[in-house]
Amino acid sequence: MPAVAPPSKVLVTGANGFIAIWVVRRLLEKGYAVRGTVRSESKAAHLRQLFSSYGDKHEVVIVEDITKEGAFDEAVKGVDAIEHTASPFHFNSEDPNDLIEPAVKGTTGVLQSALKYGSNVKRVVVTSSVAAVLTPTTNPTVFTEKDWNQQAIKDVEEMGKAAPPASKYRASKTLAEKAAWDFVDKNKGSIGWDLVVLNPPYVFGPIIHDVPGPDKINTSMADFYNTLLKGAKDDKTLATLGSCWIDVRDLALAHILAIEKQEAGGNRFLVSQGPFKWQDFVDAAHEAGVYPESALPKGVPGAGKGPDVTHLLNYDTSKAAKLLGMDKYISIEQCTKDCLEDFKKRGW
Ligand code: NDP
Repeated sequence: MPAVAPPSKVLVTGANGFIAIWVVRRLLEKGYAVRGTVRSESKAAHLRQLFSSYGDKHEVVIVEDITKEGAFDEAVKGVDAIEHTASPFHFNSEDPNDLIEPAVKGTTGVLQSALKYGSNVKRVVVTSSVAAVLTPTTNPTVFTEKDWNQQAIKDVEEMGKAAPPASKYRASKTLAEKAAWDFVDKNKGSIGWDLVVLNPPYVFGPIIHDVPGPDKINTSMADFYNTLLKGAKDDKTLATLGSCWIDVRDLALAHILAIEKQEAGGNRFLVSQGPFKWQDFVDAAHEAGVYPESALPKGVPGAGKGPDVTHLLNYDTSKAAKLLGMDKYISIEQCTKDCLEDFKKRGW
């Protein structure tokens, strides 16, 4: 029996975000009722309009400040599952606490509200990140769910505001996820739900959240847009810089499977399509034929592939394949084509 099934009601925090709005969409398409939280009324308008055909199966509530005690007390009432995605993802904070505080307090806050008022809640899913898993390395490494990013926490403790921007973000995700598991451990006698954590790498894919212009895109898609259409990386960087990635639509699917699969409870899951170099996306952009060649960087075609190309970081996704059924992922070619078509439609 699934842990949760349609037509149950699911709370999605930060519903206006790049990833969350796809989670909302997939939940509604599958027959779930969805309550999304956003920070202000102005951020609710686009969601209300996009999902208007779902009538009262879709609602949006305002949670102004996720760091305030009891912020989610009302929002959790009557829901059967929670997908907690709201958390800052950017590299612009001087003070690491600007990221750490909302990440940690937002996570423990929603869990505390679920404990107190979520009498119907059976499953809570937290959107963590590989940021909470990886340790920067100079040797090719395949990380598993057993790995934790202790280095980012150390960087922030030792360097504070002077810590590298990536360490500040990674510390926020690591501390938030640790706080979630600690919460469950401390309250295991009194909670009626279990926890699932998803740890995705870089997320790309078509944008359906409210983005008035390219300068307002979320962090991961800004990197994608600026690399493919603004020539933000030189040839050497295209061929050597990369990471791992997942399409936002696959990640949304993982969020659905994470509430449904009974056996997923109590686990964290790495979900990743695999490693890439930016040149791979550039090559796919040329193949896609959406923009003229002259609008795209060329780099050195094929330089991102081949036996001599080193991918430093990779993730073992076998647990997600086994317990969630995440065994197929959208390809670089498909994701690139769909993103470029989306950009073009927007006149970007
Ligand atoms: P977005 O920036 O598009 O969405 C973030 C969401 O969190 C928005 O709803 C935003 O609200 C909310 N949020 C951010 N800061 C705060 C805050 N201080 N208080 C309350 N709400 C806040 O990012 P993504 O969709 O890309 O990210 C969603 C989640 O996925 C995050 O937890 C992120 O760490 C994680 N993730 C993202 C990856 C990626 O590549 N995109 C990779 C791995 C994990 P508002 O719009 O009001 O700011």
